Amino acid sequence: MLLRTYCERIFDDCCWLRDDIRLPYDGTGRTTAGLGIGLYKWLHKTASERGVRMLFSTRAESLVIDGAGAVTGLRASRNGETFVIEAGGVILATGGFQGDREMLVNHAGRLVGEDVIMVGSPDNTGDGHRMALEAGADMRHLDVCHVRTTDLYFGQGPSRYLLHIYPMGIYFNRNFERFIDEGVADSDTIANAIALQPGSSAGLIFDDKARQRYPEEYARYPRREQLIVTAGSIAELAEKMYIAPEGLSRLVETFNASVENGRASGPNIAKTHAVVRLDTPPYHGFHPVRPAVNHTLGGAVVDGESCQVVDKKGQLIAGLYAAGTLVNWAYGRPYQVNGVTSFKGSYHAGATSGAGIALVSGRLAAQSALKNLTKKMR
Ligand SMILES: Cc1cc2nc3c(=O)[nH]c(=O)nc-3n(C[C@H](O)[C@H](O)[C@H](O)COP(=O)(O)OP(=O)(O)OC[C@H]3O[C@@H](n4cnc5c(N)ncnc54)[C@H](O)[C@@H]3O)c2cc1C
Repeated sequence: MLLRTYCERIFDDCCWLRDDIRLPYDGTGRTTAGLGIGLYKWLHKTASERGVRMLFSTRAESLVIDGAGAVTGLRASRNGETFVIEAGGVILATGGFQGDREMLVNHAGRLVGEDVIMVGSPDNTGDGHRMALEAGADMRHLDVCHVRTTDLYFGQGPSRYLLHIYPMGIYFNRNFERFIDEGVADSDTIANAIALQPGSSAGLIFDDKARQRYPEEYARYPRREQLIVTAGSIAELAEKMYIAPEGLSRLVETFNASVENGRASGPNIAKTHAVVRLDTPPYHGFHPVRPAVNHTLGGAVVDGESCQVVDKKGQLIAGLYAAGTLVNWAYGRPYQVNGVTSFKGSYHAGATSGAGIALVSGRLAAQSALKNLTKKMR
């Protein structure tokens, strides 16, 4: 239902940004306001000009809930002082809870909460999730996170930037074992698989056939000179990556020997697509490749027509709305690919278009809150 709302509204909401908010565009559909902070500055300027009052360095602490269970305001703190803001409605939009390690361990498990690098905002500590819970909200899929690969500079990692090249290579763990069918696993599944390896760490190697087939993809890798190691032999490549040359050489020999009719039978796991022997120098490698948490994906169940928060009995909670990452955008359960449990669930609109869902749900929540307030005042 929520996904349908997103699909039905996203075009109109983007037009609203262009026509009403006057977000500047370059004619190709891209805003020239800039990403992240640029976009924020524009929205801030527009909201200020229209008289919106914003409080900075202020933390939302808890909801004010009346005897009938309706949300009527918010307790907030600033410079150690706590105060109440009375309101006809509250929209929770505090992002995910990846910044609270304890909460992450409790819901997503020790492997994700402690072993995985954090690249999402550490300021999002799940305050909104806690408030929604206190108000009796139905919270779903809190164990599902968006996990992706990252390199030493916390970039998007080879499985994102080398989309065609990585399937032609092989991933290995610290025991020099393959653990995933590189030819079919998508970027995030690889990240999840790495999270399950000893030390939550892996390496990736490919030969020059892969580079020659996709030279532009290779050349575009950010900070390639520092991150991609290149050498004339596998043993030398291993030395440059500070790992045991015998281990890596044995792995490559065994892998090459198992290649037959476009398929590799091992070692450890079959490879079914983009199968090439690693026999064309120079060889290229990344080590380590680590999994990283972007943000959590589970959260409050909301009504698809209004973004009003729903309680465990399926009833709307009066005065409470939610938007953005705090909303449960995860569908299904974590699933398995080649025996690898994917923490991301059956993917999620918020991972593929998080800014879009924040726009759609934020605007819808605001419109609904205003409508209900106006009704109350009549
Ligand atoms: C590394 C990375 C890359 C991404 N790339 C993309 C991309 O390419 N495209 C895309 O569409 N999306 C992308 N996303 C996702 C996108 O950033 C999010 O989906 C989007 O920002 C969610 O918006 P939000 O308003 O729900 O949360 P946020 O943007 O996280 O905002 C939440 C805000 O709430 C504040 N806050 C938290 N607690 C409190 C409190 N108690 N009181 C007051 N304020 C509080 C936080 O400081 C923060 O400013 C990416 C995310 C990450 C981490």
